[in-house]
Formats: sequence, structure tokens, C-alpha cells
Amino acid sequence: MLPQLEHILAKSERVVFFGGAGVSTESGIPDFRSVDGLYHQKYAYPPETILSHTFWAQNPEEFYRFYREKMLIEGAKPNAAHRRLAQLEQEGKLRAVVTQNIDGLHQMAGSRQVYELHGSVHRNYCTKCGKFYPREAIKNSTGVPRCSCGGIIKPDVVLYEEPLDQQTMAGAISAIRRADTLIVGGTSLAVYPAAGLLQYFRGDDLVVINMQPTQADRHATLCIAKPIGQVLDLNTELEME
Ligand code: ZN
Repeated sequence: MLPQLEHILAKSERVVFFGGAGVSTESGIPDFRSVDGLYHQKYAYPPETILSHTFWAQNPEEFYRFYREKMLIEGAKPNAAHRRLAQLEQEGKLRAVVTQNIDGLHQMAGSRQVYELHGSVHRNYCTKCGKFYPREAIKNSTGVPRCSCGGIIKPDVVLYEEPLDQQTMAGAISAIRRADTLIVGGTSLAVYPAAGLLQYFRGDDLVVINMQPTQADRHATLCIAKPIGQVLDLNTELEME
């Protein structure tokens, strides 16, 4: 934990956390856009092609092969960042988590108000009858996962070319608008709609926790270039450089 951050948290009443892939890397889930991430690994197509609606519709077998192998990481557990955010919500300090991650780790840590901008691997639906299926239905299937009605089961994950869920976006915007402190963590803010969401923040303190500089840094009260799990962990002693 960092004294500067704890000071801001102590005086805040309506914290909102907005996070990206960097929040989950300490849980063993690779960051698509990092140097060691999926974008630099070998596959017949680049991940951003495979994870598009067109590819899903035209090459479902290959889509699901990639999806099972790369998107459904076994054994990922919440880290200190997820746990602290859940704790802050239980203490009545944190109002919402807005995340670009699809791994469900915030809920696993106990967070309740979570806006998943890009959906979740834990929700899957038959494209024909709408029947719900858990993550395991895709994980344990082979080829193209099918519903008992014969329809294809599709993850409730926002693919490239697909629109974001408007209700989720509206909830995220509303939470950010009412926040007195906004913590942005583990995101470069380079991808839509991340940067756009920040414009709704009207509160006192913007805190950015990210290993690399972001475009929000110049608006921030506090910028912390350290692993977010360490920063939010009450048991880790940290100092600003
Ligand atoms: Zn069905």
C-alpha cells in the first residue's frame, strides 16, 4: 500500500474503479496487448482477427479452438487488487468496478457492482433459443459448441465489430459521473471506450495505476507505475520513487 493513495481513499466516499487487462495479469491471465501477450504469439491468424464477429461466423471451429485455449485460462484466482476492491465495496467506500476484463475475477473476489464492458466468459447463450450455458459448457465441448436445440452456443463476450451493451455502458457512465474518486488501473486507455469514459468524471481525485504512462496522467492527482496488486495490497509496504 502507498500512503498517498491511502490518504485519498480515506477521504473518499464514492470511489469507482476502472480497470483493464493489467488487473488480471497478476492472476496469470495474459494481456492481449502486452509484449508477452497474445498479440505476439504464433497462431494462423492474429487474435484481433479471430476474435471478430466475422471470423466467429465464418470460421467457428477455429474461433472456438482459439477461444478454449487462449480465453479460458484454467485456475485463475483473484489477486490482491481484486480482493482489496471487493473489501472497499463492503466497507461502503467503493460504488462500482468498471472493467474491460471478461474473466469474472472481480465477482469471484466478492465484488457485487461490476460493469463488464466486454462481457464475461461465464455467460454463454444459444444463438437460436437463448438458453444460458456456463463457462464449462464451452470448455468441455469440442468443435463448435451446440445447444440441445441445435443452435450454436456463443460466449457473451463483445467481439471486434460488435457493439457494447448499452445498459452496461449507461451504468458505468452513471457510476463514474457520481464518483468523488476514480481509480484507473491496469489499462493503457488506448482502446475504445476506455478513454471516452473518463470524460464523465467530475470528482476530486483521479488516480492512475499503470506500469506505462497513459493519456490520463496529466489529469491525475496521483500516478503510480507499480504492479496494481502490490499497490492495493494493504500488507505490502511501498514508497513512491
Ligand atoms: Zn438452443
